[in-house]
Amino acid sequence: MNNQAVSSFENVNQSESVAIVGAGICGLCTALALNQKGFRVSLFERDVPPPSGDPDQAFFEWTRRGAAQFRHPHAFLGLMCSVLEEKYPDLLEDFFSAGARKVAFKDMIPPHLSSTYQPEPGDEKIWVLMCRRATMETVLRRYVERIPNIEINNKSYITNLEIQHKDGQNTATGLRITDRQDNNLESVRDFDLIIDATGRSSKFHQWLAAKDIEINEQRDDAEIVYYTRHYKLKQGIDEPSRHQEDPSMGDLGYMKYGVFPGDAGHFALIICLPLAETELRKTIKTGGGFDSVCRTIPGLLPWIGSDKSDATTEPFGIGQIHAVWRDYLDQGQPQILNFFAVGDSHARTNPLYGRGCSTATLHAHILADVLNETRDPFARAIRFSEETTNKIRPIFDASLREDKNGIRKSAELIHGKSQKEKWSFKQWLGKSFGDALGAAAKETITVQRGIAKTVNLLENPGDFLKDPKIRRTVFLYMLRGRRKNQGVQRPRGLERDEMLEHIASLG
Ligand SMILES: Cc1cc2nc3c(=O)[nH]c(=O)nc-3n(C[C@H](O)[C@H](O)[C@H](O)COP(=O)(O)OP(=O)(O)OC[C@H]3O[C@@H](n4cnc5c(N)ncnc54)[C@H](O)[C@@H]3O)c2cc1C
Repeated sequence: MNNQAVSSFENVNQSESVAIVGAGICGLCTALALNQKGFRVSLFERDVPPPSGDPDQAFFEWTRRGAAQFRHPHAFLGLMCSVLEEKYPDLLEDFFSAGARKVAFKDMIPPHLSSTYQPEPGDEKIWVLMCRRATMETVLRRYVERIPNIEINNKSYITNLEIQHKDGQNTATGLRITDRQDNNLESVRDFDLIIDATGRSSKFHQWLAAKDIEINEQRDDAEIVYYTRHYKLKQGIDEPSRHQEDPSMGDLGYMKYGVFPGDAGHFALIICLPLAETELRKTIKTGGGFDSVCRTIPGLLPWIGSDKSDATTEPFGIGQIHAVWRDYLDQGQPQILNFFAVGDSHARTNPLYGRGCSTATLHAHILADVLNETRDPFARAIRFSEETTNKIRPIFDASLREDKNGIRKSAELIHGKSQKEKWSFKQWLGKSFGDALGAAAKETITVQRGIAKTVNLLENPGDFLKDPKIRRTVFLYMLRGRRKNQGVQRPRGLERDEMLEHIASLG
């Protein structure tokens, strides 16, 4: 196990008792990061641990009510992968042994460009880890379980936060716990530091509000629903190439679709629909409807079909896709000391962009650095908030802008607004630029690399557009005209009215 040199605070850190609530992706990463800084950690998790056995058992059998997204497919982006690679290289080996696969930047380059590919510094960080989330979480959990200074309390449901109010300042002091392994025995345990890693269903802000501590929250609905169905390739069927002429991931305007290759021949298809697409949403809730819609998309045909794969689950959806940001300072002053929220409970983005686990991993390490830097509770709260804002807010803001764009586009399509009439010159320019960028990304490695860095969160979203070489290339594509650029971009598939006719014909 890679227990890198711990800081000079090691012994001091050991004297602080730390509770992390939630042993999901961020809770586990926070435990690892704090362990590297010499802290002793107690994790509290409401669910049972992963079943013993292989990833299939974890995927099909693990009861995971605490993480509603557990069986939706996940891609683990470059930011997360490069943090794990740098800090816990042996953990990565465990992922690979469990069947996870690395898709490197050179594998993402289509064959027509691959002969011109010259590696550049930084390319080694552009890679994606592909496996089912059940596989990732099981391996991560087992790795953490082997670390002596981390205690994991399973079936321990946290029901409230204890605080002390003294000299006008609130300080977190303990947790109220229901032990579901022991007849729902209730108890209170004191801790020096309490970390909320309870994800999208976090109730800490509500518990704080009940104690008159109002946490400022920004919440924006992405107005979409996300549907998944899992499949397994039949024996003897090879995984289709990621470089088919028709892309296995795309946006038809009224519907986004994608294939998530997993491990051991498993893969998932996702369909993402605006809330307003009621008829389509109704159709894809059934297995037959879901498959029938997917089979109209040429990019998905190599994957589904009775001769290619078998469905292993029914389709299932998840709603409440909100961008949520919580601010634990009020006018620059900490609302509560010795309490920190990490991962989804602090900042949540639309799953379509696959950013949550990466920001969670980064956040875990930001917190560990801050807690290791100083023992002053005020300084810790302020520093953590500053670092979160500096490093995670740009990702959140970019995601929110993408959500707003998506909402606007789908409203234009569904309500049949005349786009031409309504476009201002600025909007037209924006669309031309977007089309040119998309086309240039398909045809030039330089632009593709820039986009891959943004997508993988290896730099602030959109920073690649500051590169003069990339700007020049995109400008030249703009000069070709929108029609040509759109032609390169749009995946083949039914137009919305054709799709509505198709589903009406299903009866
Ligand atoms: C449909 C969907 C698809 C996604 N796809 C991707 C993707 O492709 N790539 C990506 O990076 N991210 C993706 N995400 C986001 C990702 O799942 C989250 O960002 C990530 O899991 C956040 O980690 P977390 O630890 O903060 O929360 P979680 O992983 O949700 O963990 C929270 C943990 O807290 C526990 N818990 C909750 N309440 C309590 C309590 N009261 N007491 C004790 N324990 C409690 C839960 O059981 C759970 O284990 C997706 C999200 C969704 C919804």
